[in-house]
Amino acid sequence: MDAPATLPGGPTPTTAFDGRPGRLDRLGRAIRDLRISVTDRCNFRCPYCMPKEVFGRDFEFLPHDQVLTYEEIHRLAAVFVGLGVRKLRITGGEPLVRRNLPDLVAMLAELRTPDGAPTDLTLTTNGSALRALARPLADAGLQRITVSLDSLDDATFRRMNGVDFPVARVLDGIAAAREAGLAPIKINVVVKRGENEASILPLARWARAEGLILRFIEYMDVGNANGWRLDDVVPAAEIIETIGAEMPLQPAEAGYRGEVAERWRYVDGNDANEIGVIASVTRPFCGDCTRARLSAEGKLYTCLFSAVGHDLRGPLRAGAADADLADLIGTVWAGRDDRYSELRAASTNHLPRIEMFALGG
Ligand code: SAM
Repeated sequence: MDAPATLPGGPTPTTAFDGRPGRLDRLGRAIRDLRISVTDRCNFRCPYCMPKEVFGRDFEFLPHDQVLTYEEIHRLAAVFVGLGVRKLRITGGEPLVRRNLPDLVAMLAELRTPDGAPTDLTLTTNGSALRALARPLADAGLQRITVSLDSLDDATFRRMNGVDFPVARVLDGIAAAREAGLAPIKINVVVKRGENEASILPLARWARAEGLILRFIEYMDVGNANGWRLDDVVPAAEIIETIGAEMPLQPAEAGYRGEVAERWRYVDGNDANEIGVIASVTRPFCGDCTRARLSAEGKLYTCLFSAVGHDLRGPLRAGAADADLADLIGTVWAGRDDRYSELRAASTNHLPRIEMFALGG
């Protein structure tokens, strides 16, 4: 494929590590993934993300008029795709609490990359409303889905979601996703010391039997509300060891450069049986980070641990043309040198950070 003579956001064509044109940042990383937060609201209060003591009844979420409309999200997403983005992930907050989400999915599913390919479109949810929404989302063009589920044990799950939500309803939501043909289904598990280590093995056995892809996430120091301590992190190596002791594992090749999870396969399984660990604390992967984040209020964040976002809603609502928006985004990306997780140390712990639910996990 020939690189175009110019790319939006600057005059110089650039070729990224995957051989495709795309804007590169100061560390040579292309822009390939966009996480779109459609709301800062969530019906769960997981203590590691939105502790209810901080995000109680009085907490003021974004007023309606400050949240991007679906038309605005679609327009920005199209500009990002023009700059090299290949994968769109809808997230939040809890994306399924936003009204008429299938309408947005239908709009995003129509986007094509400059070489005519559909984008990889997916969504991350807590699964609580999937029974009602899985089919409409699939019909609108959603291809696959990730469901967050920290335990199969009802008491542990109810405690970890902060609102006493029963695990059976999320399991039913996962069944609905399967019935609707969403595939593959991935399951995100945050492991927190003293909370759900005992859930690791039951989740692994279950996901293997059900043909679901498990992703264990190290508990991260996102935001400033969760009172994160390094002692609460269960390292990815320990998770792999726990599972491997019962069901031997071997490392699998990364699917593509920039993939967040380290993947493992069961030695006596078939290729579909894999698990992954996202070791952003113990083995940071900033060098391969190709992700941008668009918050519900239209700010561009170039790192999960950013303190500052770049406003896109203002220029958008002031009438900026697509080329102007592409210039703006391309310039922000070209100046990007974030590598927070690699620099993480006690000295970074006091720094202000935006909460994960606000900028899109
Ligand atoms: N509400 C949706 C959900 O539950 O998946 C999407 C947003 S949520 C912020 C996205 C993911 O971030 C979830 O899998 C959640 O478990 C994870 N997450 C939130 N806070 C985290 C933390 N401190 N460390 C690691 N993962 C976290």
